[in-house]
Amino acid sequence: MPVNCSSCETQRAALRRPKTGHSVCKECFFQAFEEEIHHTIVSAKLFQPGEKVGIGASGGKDSTVLAHVLKVLNERYNYGLELILVSVDEGISGYRDDSLETVKRNQQQYELPLKIVSYQELYGWTMDQIVKQVGLKNNCTFCGVFRRQALDRGAMMLAVDKICTGHNADDIAETVLMNFLRGDIARLRRCTAITTGSEGAIPRCKPLKYAYEKEIVLYAYFKKLDYFSTECIYSPNAYRGHARAFLKDLEALRPSAIMDIIHSGENLSVKEDIRMPVQGTCTRCGYISSQGLCKACVLLEGLNRGLPKLGIGKHTTNFTISSWRRNR
Ligand code: SF4
Ligand code: ZN
Repeated sequence: MPVNCSSCETQRAALRRPKTGHSVCKECFFQAFEEEIHHTIVSAKLFQPGEKVGIGASGGKDSTVLAHVLKVLNERYNYGLELILVSVDEGISGYRDDSLETVKRNQQQYELPLKIVSYQELYGWTMDQIVKQVGLKNNCTFCGVFRRQALDRGAMMLAVDKICTGHNADDIAETVLMNFLRGDIARLRRCTAITTGSEGAIPRCKPLKYAYEKEIVLYAYFKKLDYFSTECIYSPNAYRGHARAFLKDLEALRPSAIMDIIHSGENLSVKEDIRMPVQGTCTRCGYISSQGLCKACVLLEGLNRGLPKLGIGKHTTNFTISSWRRNR
């Protein structure tokens, strides 16, 4: 039997919200989804009027929904923001070149400026070349470190005040689980923060922090947004894959599991006598780093010297339990 929307009670329900279990019509879903993001933005004071905000845009569902919703809310609530899309071209043929075409269409659809920065131009290496050199085991370590810096560098070139990324609630819950399982205390502490990197780096924020991935997919689908849904061809990130599968199992039993894990991460307290890494700057490139050389420079040196394992493992700047033990 058709069910009426539990919100407006007049329209037929078109979906059941994964986050709340309520049956709602499309319009009420759009309204609730957008208002929840507005609430996140306002209650965490993510933006100030007049700010220039870079949106990390990959062409995927999360960043496409983020760009769309930020544009809608900026106009609806007069945030007074200047929005710019910033994309990173990792140089992955058959994947990033296609997804960048999507970003270019989004640029037209949302009438927002777009800046693309590439690994090739910043580091002299594309991911295709890096994979040839390092294989498919540690490629995501290189890619993750390089992307983080590339986005910052793109943002610096544009002189933006902030960067926002499309990380959703599922991503954050997964990261909490992974950091917990690895004993990465410093990251465990930081990973639920809605805004990070205010000391020296361009602040980053996550307006979709409380948005469920399933709802992002539904929003993109019902709004008919133009996004790219193919996985990266070099995606062996097995550890995250296991954390994701575990989280999906938990969510199937109890949808609030995602939010519960985020709340657990937010409320964890770390013993005062645990030494945390001290942020400084890289002596080579000037990027923020807790070691003499930043992780990107160490990895790059390994690539350029034909020793790609140099930055992996014990030379890592990750603050792990083993480095914590050594520091005690
Ligand atoms: Fe880069 Fe790995 Fe993501 Fe592919 S899956 S884009 S190689 S981090
Ligand atoms: Zn309704």
